[in-house]
Amino acid sequence: MHKPKILIIYTGGTIGMIEDPATHSLQPFDFTHLIDNVPKIKKLDYEISNIQFHPPIDSANMDTDRWVEIARSIEDNYANYDGFVVLHGTDTMAYTASALSFMLENLHKPVIITGSQLPVGEVRTDGEENLITALQIAAAVGKDGNPMVQEVAILFEDYLWRGNRSTKMSADHFNAFKSNNYPYLAKIGLDIQFHEEALWRVAARRPLKVQYEMDRNVMFLQLFPGMTEPTVRHMLSTPDIKGIVLKTYGAGNAPTYEWFVDLIRSAVERGIVIVNVTQCVNGGVDSERYMTGNVLSAAGVVSGHDITSEAAITKLMYLFGMGLRPEQVKKYLNCSLCGEVSIQ
Ligand code: ASP
Repeated sequence: MHKPKILIIYTGGTIGMIEDPATHSLQPFDFTHLIDNVPKIKKLDYEISNIQFHPPIDSANMDTDRWVEIARSIEDNYANYDGFVVLHGTDTMAYTASALSFMLENLHKPVIITGSQLPVGEVRTDGEENLITALQIAAAVGKDGNPMVQEVAILFEDYLWRGNRSTKMSADHFNAFKSNNYPYLAKIGLDIQFHEEALWRVAARRPLKVQYEMDRNVMFLQLFPGMTEPTVRHMLSTPDIKGIVLKTYGAGNAPTYEWFVDLIRSAVERGIVIVNVTQCVNGGVDSERYMTGNVLSAAGVVSGHDITSEAAITKLMYLFGMGLRPEQVKKYLNCSLCGEVSIQ
């Protein structure tokens, strides 16, 4: 009988933190401390190995170099493991999950990201259960003998979510994540119930290919009533900027003041790709619905449909990282690469 082989990649986050006695604030700690606090792990009849960040980090310090480090660990060990569990802080977990989903092209094995709201050393920790469940999901096999999960996913408390559809919804609830525009991939109860129709599947089995270049010349521009012309002008003139996620109101609406529309249009004409993503946590952009949305598409802004902000910004990093031209980036924004948006 084949024992599942799982690689844990420990990046840091609350799950492995301990309290600094001087400041009483939580700080990342090493993997031995973490694993010593999860003795039940030995009851799983798996072959588990680990790799850790040196030093482990609070995920507020996550950056593109760290994503490369995670992706490289997965690529280097891809053939030797059945699945991967990434332990990560919750703050930027949805960004990492989105970034990895793009970077790990042709992924056919589970990459399950988890963490916790309370450190594993605390009596009421959610970390122990999250880690054990993530390992079980990473080891799960379908009826056809292939991995049940063949994508990057976030496991947190009661649910498994598609990584590039997820958002951190709560700073203190155990059920901290949700994918507001896509069903859960599994519900965790007495059993792990997979929602098989929702799982990502690609018929063609190509070898894993990792895209390591992520272009950081991207940014968010979040609208709010009263935003001034100099502010918008200044942001749109950011040196070297290539892509902007414009966080609009409701169904993708923005002011129709002449100065605003002119600034947006001229940025698009300079080759900046602007993608329209709603500030609402649920639903997406429908630029045709209101005049205020229509004006943006007439100015050359691309619809982000129902993509999350986290997936939109990392998709821009990925597409520009491949060296694509603005027109090609716009084309790929308008299609789903790995299930990040509800279009074909
Ligand atoms: N600040 C922590 C982090 O993201 C929060 C957590 O892990 O829940 O690393």
